[in-house]
Amino acid sequence: MQLYKNFIDGKWIESESKETIKVDDPATGKVFAEIACAKKTEVDQAVQAAKNSFVSRVLVDMPLLERAKLMHNIADETRKIANEGGKILCYENGKLLSAGIKEFNDVADMFDYYAGLTDKLEGKTIPVASNVFDYTVLEPFGVSAHIVPWNFPLSMIGRSLACSFATGNSTIIKTAELTPLSATIFAKAIENAGVPNGLINIIAGYGDEAGSYLVSHPDVNHVVFTGSVATGKKILHACADKTIPAIVELGGKSAGIVYPDADLESVVESARHGIFGVAGQICTAMSRLVVHKSVKDELITKLVNLSESLKIGPGYEEGTGLTPIISENQLQKVEGYARSGIQQGAEAVHGGKRVEREGYFMQATVLNNVKQEMTVAKEEIFGPVLSILDYEENEEAIKIANDTDYGLGSGVFTKDLKKASWTASKLEAGQVYVNKWFTGNHATPFGGYKQSGYSREKGVEALKSYLQVKNVGINLD
Ligand code: NAD
Repeated sequence: MQLYKNFIDGKWIESESKETIKVDDPATGKVFAEIACAKKTEVDQAVQAAKNSFVSRVLVDMPLLERAKLMHNIADETRKIANEGGKILCYENGKLLSAGIKEFNDVADMFDYYAGLTDKLEGKTIPVASNVFDYTVLEPFGVSAHIVPWNFPLSMIGRSLACSFATGNSTIIKTAELTPLSATIFAKAIENAGVPNGLINIIAGYGDEAGSYLVSHPDVNHVVFTGSVATGKKILHACADKTIPAIVELGGKSAGIVYPDADLESVVESARHGIFGVAGQICTAMSRLVVHKSVKDELITKLVNLSESLKIGPGYEEGTGLTPIISENQLQKVEGYARSGIQQGAEAVHGGKRVEREGYFMQATVLNNVKQEMTVAKEEIFGPVLSILDYEENEEAIKIANDTDYGLGSGVFTKDLKKASWTASKLEAGQVYVNKWFTGNHATPFGGYKQSGYSREKGVEALKSYLQVKNVGINLD
């Protein structure tokens, strides 16, 4: 079995403890690779390497067009290994092979995009008095630790790392224990691109061990966390103890409103990608549809047809429409949610159970007659379970959509763009998708309202969370 290693200070490192993390294929449940498990020793090494590279000012003092060129190199090298990396990602995560390859190409796009912004981060001059010259400079924080989840193992690295690098920080990434391999393929691109040692370090380790130790490390100055609300709160407490900033991108319980004039085919296509894509393990999953009573039956018939048509199988098999859940634990959780919905009065018009075959597969599940107070309408399920709620008045639809502690994604389906824009202004979420779930790319700011977190990733907006402002006042007398 292949042993993957951690990438620290430009070298490939095994764990001093010799402990490894075993990685299985969710489509079969069989272990196919292992990776050296970073413990305190390796976290210390990674932090020291990042600190040394920051103190050396190798990136900070690099002419900005050179920094940009280095980022374009990373993008080019990432594209070269996209097929190899995408395949590993597909095996460790379970998602479609095409989606795995796309994640690598998306990361390359992130690096190209932020490369173009490295020399456009300008401070300003501030009029204080005629004898004072006052200006601001934007400076990196130093050592930035990024902790990522398993559902988009590479995209989540790409969006924060590209920003962190563009702004001159030295970075340590701790991958998720269920999907640590694709990041090591990406590390090869870093190596091939000629990135100076220590600027980017990638380690695999358990969250409550390597993760919590990394966040609390005295030499870490800035944290980026993407994951669940529960872990996000722990991270925020740890950062508060050290008074360092943390970017937190957390879970969601997104709702799409379907008005009577909606193109129902676009709702169905959105369900294909928004709730059944990646088996619903998406932070902005379209997990609730708030549907006008007049079109509900017609839409449900179409959603049932879609669910029946999805071929269940591994992401690496041609024609697969529904891929596995990441683990047995997660599958039991998702099935438990579907069961609770039915027990609380919802009707499973399709699915509702795990699929009896090897691996961790859940049926495409559509629950009708879901009510706001039911657990399936409130909690993040992170599986292919779509809850249908209905409404009669527009204001009622908005109220139902906003009736959640989360505020990540939201959507509206209507041919009337005035109504769409009115609805968008009322929805309490960082993203509003109109007539198509998922419309953004590397340039569109992404983040949450309410418990889904704050700060923004992607786009120009993200840069300010990776920089601190220094004000300089010069007395000219
Ligand atoms: P998780 O919170 O269990 O784990 C996320 C990461 O945190 C992992 O790398 C884990 O090892 C680490 N971790 C766990 N405990 C830790 C601790 N005490 N200290 C430091 N690190 C720790 O989340 P998950 O199950 O991996 O991911 C699913 C969640 O992520 C969902 O809630 C999903 O909505 C969310 N998510 C959000 C976004 C977004 O952009 N908002 C994107 C993807 C996923």
